[in-house]
Amino acid sequence: MDLRLLDETMAEMGQPGYRADQVFQWLARGATSFEEMSNLPAGLRDELALKLPISTLEPEASAKSVDGTEKALFMTADQRPVEAVLMRYRDGRRSLCLSSQSGCPLTCTFCATGSMNFGRNLTESEILDQALHFRRIEPVNQAVFMGMGEPMMNLDNVLATCERLPEIGVANSHTTISTVGWLPGIERVTTEGPAVRLALSLHAPNDELRSKIMPVNERYPIAEVVGACREWRHTRKRKVFIEYLMLEGVNDSVELAHELADLLLPKNDFKVNLIPYNPSGNEYTGSSRESIRDFRETLIRRGIFATIRLTRGRDIDAACGQLAAKAADDSAVTAG
Ligand code: SAH
Repeated sequence: MDLRLLDETMAEMGQPGYRADQVFQWLARGATSFEEMSNLPAGLRDELALKLPISTLEPEASAKSVDGTEKALFMTADQRPVEAVLMRYRDGRRSLCLSSQSGCPLTCTFCATGSMNFGRNLTESEILDQALHFRRIEPVNQAVFMGMGEPMMNLDNVLATCERLPEIGVANSHTTISTVGWLPGIERVTTEGPAVRLALSLHAPNDELRSKIMPVNERYPIAEVVGACREWRHTRKRKVFIEYLMLEGVNDSVELAHELADLLLPKNDFKVNLIPYNPSGNEYTGSSRESIRDFRETLIRRGIFATIRLTRGRDIDAACGQLAAKAADDSAVTAG
């Protein structure tokens, strides 16, 4: 729902201020049409239905994995591709993976979104509409900004979205902003905005290696970024998740696990999440199970809390940017 247009339309029709909020409350509980919004006058519902689409995003394609993960590809009104994913877990958790941008201006070498053209920042309404799409299917209770884009480069809209997610069922304590290490953004969320969680996509423990696979590291080197994360941890009183993609022969040696431990010690400010690589048609291969296990054990022996991420939706190209990149290939146009 285009929330700005909704406000304007209500105002034009001389409706009281609370009407727009009533509409959002219905959407947040999974309403699929204005017709259902029974506390709005019938005439108003009809008029709204004529004037306002229910979503700013048009579903283009969807794919469902055998593990229950569901991915959707949407188009914005100006034909920018946007992806979102719903992960269903056995313990009942329903986790949304949201995009903050169409495409991404950063060029992490392993990431499918990074190889697409950058489109633009998504509006608050376009981010919320990804969540509402899945909320129309079933209740949801977690969200991660790990879809397309760098959330800290669109922080106003991302924070505005976080403020409204609790109405859809996702508490701030169950919302995670994942960043490449965009320093000004990390500094800003340390003192500003709702109490969401923070994840840093680190992927390498030293500047030389990290700059090779993540060019953004040239701009914001590891020491500064990790320092800002420690600040965040002390101010916000929550540990920072460290995302570490396991790339065979690139960043997965036991020596590098020790280097990572050196970087993160002595204080217990972090939780490391080792991510099995989801192949996306580039030069990288994911690390073997054994290397991932050895890497994890090294960290644990050094006193670092580390888990291995469960891979979800591998059969539907559910990793960041994969569906949009493929759709763009198939139609021989570049996205963005
Ligand atoms: N720009 C933000 C959020 C989007 S990416 C960030 O980088 O954190 C979300 C996570 O998915 C990042 O940790 C990213 O490195 C990881 N990722 C990218 N491509 C992947 C792939 N092919 N397989 C597994 N994880 C991937």
